Amino acid sequence: MILTLTLNPSVDISYAIEAFHLDTVNRVSNIDKTAGGKGLNVTRVLNQLSEPVTASGLIGGPLGDFIENQLDDSQIKHSFFKINDATRNCIAVLHQGKQTEILEQGPTISEEESSDFLNHVDTLIKKMDVVAISGSLPKGLNLDYYSKIIEKCHEHQLPVILDSSGDTLMTSIHSPFKPTVIKPNIDELYQLLNQPVDESIEGLKKALNNPIFNDIEWVIVSLGAKGMFAKHHNQYYKVNIPSIEVLNPVGSGDSTVAGIAAALLNHESDEQLLKKANTLGMLNAQESRTGYVNLNNYDDLYHQIELLEV
Ligand code: ADP
Repeated sequence: MILTLTLNPSVDISYAIEAFHLDTVNRVSNIDKTAGGKGLNVTRVLNQLSEPVTASGLIGGPLGDFIENQLDDSQIKHSFFKINDATRNCIAVLHQGKQTEILEQGPTISEEESSDFLNHVDTLIKKMDVVAISGSLPKGLNLDYYSKIIEKCHEHQLPVILDSSGDTLMTSIHSPFKPTVIKPNIDELYQLLNQPVDESIEGLKKALNNPIFNDIEWVIVSLGAKGMFAKHHNQYYKVNIPSIEVLNPVGSGDSTVAGIAAALLNHESDEQLLKKANTLGMLNAQESRTGYVNLNNYDDLYHQIELLEV
């Protein structure tokens, strides 16, 4: 069973309107509301793959209930921890080919909730085989909070995929409790190294050879339309992908994380893991919905991917 953790989920509202007018009323009939947050995208793709998955994280208030109800409707297992503050909304207004976003900061977690959730995770992971942690930390949790979760996973010998960014990712990779896999995109890699990265094979190899990545088993850098560059122990790989028609690449990184988690669960080879991750990233990019893949096209894309040992 794969456990996905989303500590700062949201209910994502998208309003599609023809024109967006400031300082007046905008009426909207085309409304979509979904349980959002990177970890929930990972969860949905794993569920589509029919992989066993349980979603957890911190939720509160009526929007927390909405998230649980939506997961129930899709028959996805979940075990969220209830907090006092309310789960947030994130609003995207789609207008004139543009996207204007209004993102609530979300709840603040109390000290008691912070330690109780660690106990909740400790109980949950006894029944898990792989853990995928995604996204940002809500207010009130310290930057080393993911390291505390990873420490617990180490106690149970569980592989952990960490897909986060900024100071949270930096703190986690400098902790003695390393994630098994990190999946920065190229911007997140710049941030980690604090300098631009030359995207040639030699440049990427040099970047991943940086001592900050020592002791992290897999460093997988996703490169959008250019595929991936990865390091597994001391082996480097470049993944070349076919050119595809893209509708909406938001959530492609989350779909790749779903592929990595599924491959770890099933003890697949490096080649299978990397090809699965890219196939799912591409399938997500071909859809307008975030965290949704059309598996009918899976085999066709999978067989067009080229894996080079470099
Ligand atoms: P993130 O969403 O984390 O920024 P990426 O944009 O790098 O991640 O996308 C993850 C994966 O999804 C890529 O490695 C690739 O396989 C696929 N992908 C994303 N964008 C495109 C695109 N424009 N064309 C083809 N594949 C894409």
